[in-house]
Parts: sequence; C-alpha cells; structure tokens
Amino acid sequence: MKVAVVGGGLAGLSAALDLADAGHVVTLHETRPTLGGAVQTLPEREGDPEPPPDNGQHIALGCFTEYLRFLGRIGEGGSFIRTRLALPVLDENGASSAIEPSLRALLAYRHLSLKGRIRLPLTTLRLRSAHSHPNETFGQLLRRLGETDRSIDCFWDVFIRPALNLPCDEADPKAGLFTVRTALLGPRANSDLVLPVKPLGRMHGDAAGAALEAAGATVLTETRVSTLDELEADAIVVAVPPRESARLLGEPEPALEDSPIVSVHLWFDRPLLGRPLAALLDSDAHWVFDRGSLTGSKPERGQYLTVVSSGVPELLEVRGRELVERIAGQLTDRLGDAELLWSRVSREPYATVALRPGVQRPGVETSQPNVVRAGAWTDTGWPATMESAIRSGRAAAQHILSGISARVTA
Ligand SMILES: Cc1cc2nc3c(=O)[nH]c(=O)nc-3n(C[C@H](O)[C@H](O)[C@H](O)COP(=O)(O)OP(=O)(O)OC[C@H]3O[C@@H](n4cnc5c(N)ncnc54)[C@H](O)[C@@H]3O)c2cc1C
Repeated sequence: MKVAVVGGGLAGLSAALDLADAGHVVTLHETRPTLGGAVQTLPEREGDPEPPPDNGQHIALGCFTEYLRFLGRIGEGGSFIRTRLALPVLDENGASSAIEPSLRALLAYRHLSLKGRIRLPLTTLRLRSAHSHPNETFGQLLRRLGETDRSIDCFWDVFIRPALNLPCDEADPKAGLFTVRTALLGPRANSDLVLPVKPLGRMHGDAAGAALEAAGATVLTETRVSTLDELEADAIVVAVPPRESARLLGEPEPALEDSPIVSVHLWFDRPLLGRPLAALLDSDAHWVFDRGSLTGSKPERGQYLTVVSSGVPELLEVRGRELVERIAGQLTDRLGDAELLWSRVSREPYATVALRPGVQRPGVETSQPNVVRAGAWTDTGWPATMESAIRSGRAAAQHILSGISARVTA
C-alpha cells in the first residue's frame, strides 16, 4: 500500500517509520529543509559556539517510554544522559534546595516553611485519587487540597510549568494530575531526567531521516503539501500543527490556543552555574542548563548556558537585545558577575498547545476514510510533549495497519 505522511516532526517521523517497517511504500513530505519539526537545531551563524544552539532545550523523563524506544530505533539510544531526578532550585539569594521524588527530600525542601514541607507529601499522595471540578485549574485543585500561593510558586510551578508549558493557575487539572501520577507517583525510574547530549537536529530529524531511507521510505524536504488531493496514496497521515491540520482536512479550526517557549543562549566569560542544570525561583529564567558540560563540549573559557522560559507570552514582545540583557542580568544578579561573550535568542510562539481547563483535543480518526491525524497536540492522554508526538504517530500508523488487516480478514 502507498502511504503519504504530511509533516516531518516527531509524530510524522514515528508514523512513517512504523509504516515503512510494516513493508508499506511510504513518502514523507516536510515543508522545511530539515526534519524534526519543533525539535530543531538553529541554522548556523558565524561565531556560534560548539555545539550549535538548539531552538530550545528539550527534556524527557524516564516515563517517556515511546520516545526512548524511538531514539533506539533511529540509532540514537546512546545520545542522552539519564539521571535520577534531583533538580536544584535556587531562590532570590542563590540558596539551593533540590526537588527529588523522595519523602526525605520533600521534608528537607528549604524554600518552604516546615508546615509547607510537611504538606507536600500529603498533597502528593492525595493527588493519587483526587478528582477535578469543572472549570477548575490545577492550581485551584492544589489549593483545595491545602497548598498555598507560596508552595505553588516555589514547588509545584517549578516542574508543572515546563511539563505543561503553562503555570498551575492556567493548566487543565487533568493534565496536572496525569503529570504528577505518571512522573512522581509511578515507578521511581519514571521521574528520571533524560537530557540530550547531541544537537537536537542531528539526533532527531537527521537520524530519523536516515533510518527512514534505510527502511525504504522516500523523504521529501522543502515540500509543502497544499492540498491532500495532490497526494497519490491509498492512505494519508496528516501530522502537522492544529490550524494547518484543519485546513488540509477541511475541518473547522480547533479551539486550541498556543503556548510559547523562549530560549536564550548565553556564553559568559566565567562559570556561573556550578551544576548541569537548575531552576530559578521568581525569575524569567525558569530553568538554566549548562549546555557545554551537558554535551561534553565546554567552551575554551567561561560557561555556555541555555535558559528556558516556558508559557510566558509577554516575553515574545521583548526585543532581542533587551531580552538578553534582562535574562543575563537576572543570572548574574543571583549567581555572580560575569561578562557576556555571545548570545542568541530563540522564540517559539507555537511551541505547544495550551492545555487549559476543559480543553478538547481530537483523536486519530478524521471524517475522511483512510486519512488519519497525528501530532503532539492530539488526544493521546499526554501533555503536548515529544512522548505525545511519538505516541500519536504510532497510533496513526496502527490505525492504518489495523484497517488493512480488517479488510484482509473480511
Ligand atoms: C522550544 C521548545 C521546547 C520544547 N521543550 C520540550 C521538552 O523539553 N520536552 C518535550 O517533551 N517537549 C518539548 N517541546 C514540545 C515538543 O517539541 C513538541 O510537542 C513535538 O516535537 C511536536 O511534534 P509534532 O510532530 O506533533 O509537531 P511538529 O514538530 O510541529 O511537526 C509538524 C511538522 O509539519 C510540518 N508541516 C506543517 N505544514 C506542512 C505542510 N502543509 N506540508 C508539509 N509539512 C508541513 C512542519 O514544518 C513541521 O516540521 C518543546 C517545543 C519547543 C518548540
């Protein structure tokens, strides 16, 4: 059977691989010159340090089983480091305390009062069976269970914000409950941090393109599909963002908002961060990564950092130089003086869909026979992550494959 896949992000790539591995004639169409979609390395500029900056630091967790399997399938199973979750969180004075999935660590979390710390494990356990109320946010649910503004700012938002790309006070409670139950209340290894050690483009798009070609698929980059009618195929996977998906499928636009991610890459003349990564309280710099040490490629002097701000639309409006000064200033105020040698900004206004209360996401099936939908934003049950993208692609491929086997059986 001939299958066309539209979109070369992780969803399209994983669908295409499953279909090619099942022996079908697959052609993948991608608008951009590179594969990987939202998981990209920025186009090279003179003066960039090694490794080249990505469009944004990507983090996976131990519970991202399909994503990890995908990396293995494309030959990149060794391209990440996996560590137990132990996230240093720095307050306004630079004082550090770590978030770890253990009772001992929760009770020692010094950014909260003793009362606040004692409440953390109790609330976490209560989240195992908690139910959300209609129109409530995850923040409201947490407060209903006894959490406070301070504990939400200093503990819950530290990991819910990057996980859902929204703060607790804007997030769908079901997505918040899913995240806590899967990552923190599941088996211990579920909360492991998985961090890439290679440029994202190389270990995702480039590697998946090579794996697809080795499996016999045709990969067409710089090929925008303007209508599905132009595709000669028995089945089609539409694996593009929500509005483009609706346009191609002739459907009304889904009522889904976007949530941005802004990343600032900074090379300082001296080391500022004494660990591979840290979260900062009360700062636009939500998480900071030592890109040099994480990728095993430290600059000849100083430190190469990547700073990520998740779900902050107001930062999209701040102009480049001002944004760099603001983020670099927030780091040096807290971590010590340093001169900036180089910087680069990456703004992704459509980084993920915003999973707000009551959000509805469509599933694999479309109104057209033999045309299926995929994308991190679809109804996989997961937040709009790399894991969701891979799962959606696999579900789309499975839908096509089970349609064939049903026809063969009949
Ligand atoms: C800066 C940033 C940081 C992130 N951090 C994390 C993280 O830490 N952890 C995590 O799990 N997730 C993270 N994400 C989210 C994750 O990257 C995405 O959810 C996921 O990669 C989306 O994959 P996708 O295949 O569904 O969509 P996309 O990656 O958007 O792929 C869709 C593809 O379709 C192509 N396309 C569109 N229209 C057409 C057309 N008409 N014809 C042909 N091709 C078309 C596009 O060019 C694109 O390549 C982050 C995203 C960003 C942007």
